[in-house]
Amino acid sequence: MTRIRIHDKIFTLYISKEDIQQKVGELANALNRDYEHKNPIFIAVLNGAFIFAADLFKSLIIDAEISFIKLASYKGMKSSGQVITAIGLDIELYDRHVVILEDIVDTGKTLNEFLPQLMHQQPASLKIVALLHKPAATVYPLKVDYKGFEIPDKFVVGYGLDYNGLGRNTASIYQLSE
Ligand code: 5GP
Repeated sequence: MTRIRIHDKIFTLYISKEDIQQKVGELANALNRDYEHKNPIFIAVLNGAFIFAADLFKSLIIDAEISFIKLASYKGMKSSGQVITAIGLDIELYDRHVVILEDIVDTGKTLNEFLPQLMHQQPASLKIVALLHKPAATVYPLKVDYKGFEIPDKFVVGYGLDYNGLGRNTASIYQLSE
């Protein structure tokens, strides 16, 4: 499908499932190489990253752990400016190699507020993986260590990302039509 309707909006196919799977494979290769023998702990940020995290994690062939946290700074299509932690971290991160898995880095606000909480636990290292990055939307500069796609500052849905609760269940990513 090249166009989908979610609530009142029309979205156009933007990144195909084949391109996503190819990119996830490339990211997994880099992580398999960089984290061999390090037993990293992956922290996936819910809800949006759940599909990306599952696909990426399946492609890892190294010893690795995964845990999930829930943060939100988005309501509808505008950042609400509030970060809420609904599901906390239940693992000890001291001296561990920690890798954050994000669906998308937009303004950078979410991770900007969350990373200091993690650094507090003194991990051995802390890196960020994001499937999507909107450099033009940056308000809080952030180094995304492993980046899938750089995209313009336009709203996208699919592959875990929603518009007001809907649209997560597609294998491709769609962009809001003008
Ligand atoms: P940031 O804190 O970097 O501004 O925003 C991060 C969060 O905002 C993402 O994890 C995601 O939940 C949400 N977000 C940012 N841009 C988009 C977008 O284009 N589409 C969707 N569905 N969510 C977005």
